[in-house]
Amino acid sequence: QLIYLNGQFVSKKDAVVSVYDHGFLYGDGVFEGIRMYEGNVFRLQDHVDRLYDSAKSILLSIPYSKQELSDLIVETLLRNNLQNAYIRVVVSRGVGNLGLDPASCSQPQVIIIAEELTLFPKKLYETGIDIVSVATRRNRSDVLSPKVKSLNYLNNILVRIEANLAGVSEALMLNDQGYVAEGSADNVFIVKNGEILTPPGYVGALEGITRNVIMEIAHKLGFPMKEEVFTRHDVYVADEVFLTGTAAEVIAVVKVDGRKIGDGKPGSYTNKLLEEFRKVVKEDGVK
Ligand code: PLP
Repeated sequence: QLIYLNGQFVSKKDAVVSVYDHGFLYGDGVFEGIRMYEGNVFRLQDHVDRLYDSAKSILLSIPYSKQELSDLIVETLLRNNLQNAYIRVVVSRGVGNLGLDPASCSQPQVIIIAEELTLFPKKLYETGIDIVSVATRRNRSDVLSPKVKSLNYLNNILVRIEANLAGVSEALMLNDQGYVAEGSADNVFIVKNGEILTPPGYVGALEGITRNVIMEIAHKLGFPMKEEVFTRHDVYVADEVFLTGTAAEVIAVVKVDGRKIGDGKPGSYTNKLLEEFRKVVKEDGVK
């Protein structure tokens, strides 16, 4: 496996960064997760745009143009001979001294890792998953926007730990007002009386690219779709619940905090959206 690290392709064993990197010391950096499906990089432009927006928001200057970075992503996939893959792009503030001040970091580090991955076993897409809601809150801070996909993922990791402790594979995070925000690494949707709802970004959710694709598909299929705040109660009494994300794709949720959702099986809207999503990812990528 070859990993892109600051201008070179190196083996996995040699792909190491300094302990003085502020990405490591302080979580100072940004990242993206991207998928390649059958040789197509799905929504590459959207991911690259979001990476640059995240970086701009934290005043981190990526030392490549968007086109150069996109080309490097594609090159990493080609060099590893991949057709179906998960790609992780990381840009950290770079090596500095032990102080917080990013001014001590001379050059951002750019890392691209690509490997084969499926998050959930295939069977779970047919059965759906059980999830819980957890105590960890999504920070809705207007200072570091939830739209910034930063290397500070401790909230999300605490959510994952709580999910592990509850013996489930994913969990829902609420914001400080008790509105449902998102999962640890995915967005959430509910379906009630034929209407599909997902929380608006301001609730404290990353505006997921998969989420946007699902909204486009729902629109195309003529399914009523709204961005609206909702609570755990609304989730419990929903007809369907599903999660979306680059890694998770579209996965049905059939139990939340012990409450069975609908009839306890993936619902018809979820199944239809997953089916269309699977078509779109094959048709709609960068070769
Ligand atoms: N929410 C969070 C916190 C995430 O990290 C992710 C993953 O990227 C998502 C939602 C889903 O976003 P996307 O569909 O762009 O992968």
